[in-house]
Amino acid sequence: MASLLWNRETESSRLAGMDCLHIEDDALMRLLPYIGNKGYTKIIIAADAITSALAGNVLLEKLSKAGIAAYETIIKPNSCGDVVADEASVIQLLLDVQQLEAEAVVAVGTGTLHDITRYTAYTAGIPFISVPTAPTVDGFNSKGAPLLLRGDKITIAAKGPSAMFVDLTLLQQAPAQLIAAGFGDMIGKYTSLLDWHFGVNEHNEPFLQSTADLTIEALQACLERVQDIAAGTRDGVKVLIEALIQSGVAMLQFGQSHSASGSEHHLSHYWEMEYIRINRRQLLHGAKVGVACAEMIKLYKQLAVQDGGLDFVRDPHTLRKLIEQLPDEDEIRSLLKQVGGPASVEELGISDELLQRSLREAHHVRPNRYTILRAYNEARGLG
Ligand SMILES: [Zn+2]
Repeated sequence: MASLLWNRETESSRLAGMDCLHIEDDALMRLLPYIGNKGYTKIIIAADAITSALAGNVLLEKLSKAGIAAYETIIKPNSCGDVVADEASVIQLLLDVQQLEAEAVVAVGTGTLHDITRYTAYTAGIPFISVPTAPTVDGFNSKGAPLLLRGDKITIAAKGPSAMFVDLTLLQQAPAQLIAAGFGDMIGKYTSLLDWHFGVNEHNEPFLQSTADLTIEALQACLERVQDIAAGTRDGVKVLIEALIQSGVAMLQFGQSHSASGSEHHLSHYWEMEYIRINRRQLLHGAKVGVACAEMIKLYKQLAVQDGGLDFVRDPHTLRKLIEQLPDEDEIRSLLKQVGGPASVEELGISDELLQRSLREAHHVRPNRYTILRAYNEARGLG
């Protein structure tokens, strides 16, 4: 199989601006020595009720025993019962950081916990340390914090982790649906890369070959090991988390998210904001991205085979070729099914009305990105 970044940990942690990146069994054991070496004496652990029971509590005990003033903030869920990265969560954590005069924050959890911690640590001017509890998203080592501000999803430039401790023993305990979500976030790279190439060809968007290469390599590794990922084996979760981190490194290298986030992410963000508006419980980010990828491929393939279907672009020939290289909708859905994730909007619980509306409006979610969906919608008067 392709050799991913874990064979080049020094290089990848340098790229990501990290002191270290440990992906191994019992990586958590390395956290205490790291904190000791840094000379930190006051630490906040950010967790939610689930991740506290998984790892936060144990960590708190270890730190306290080592004579470090440690405190665990359990981020409270919103009125729907979801822990979300919104202003309330950030303030909850920030107050504890200020109270303890913490020198660093350890994020113990998935993407949301990391986004809350990332922005809080950035605001407080202290480092944050990443302890992922499930391989769910490629945003762990991101610098941008997607936050919900008064219900709108915005991404604010913040900071990446100063160190990552990816404990494979912990990751193997992750529920199958979280592993499937991480796989869905990776599957989305099919359409994000397509939209990126399109934006470069048609709209002079910036491009970096090595970023595209790292992203393709990460996607490929997940496809090659889909059975292991589906089974949630040690090797499966290792391949998946490494691919997610590699996609994150690729974004850091480029300085923007084009490689990892295209129209499929815009659909997913649109659905997320709608659910906030109507006060419904949130769906997993990667579960939405995987299904949205299948929906975008369905639309793009339809346009590619229609007579004149791509006439709204400057170079339909090149675009048709790019679209033809992608697997078809059914292949995407069967891969999602194989890992045990939702494969259709019905299984995800997204109504047809919301799907159709998002296909017409989701390009407004990221006004600065030129995707095929944007060009298509603008050409049919939905700009
Ligand atoms: Zn994503």
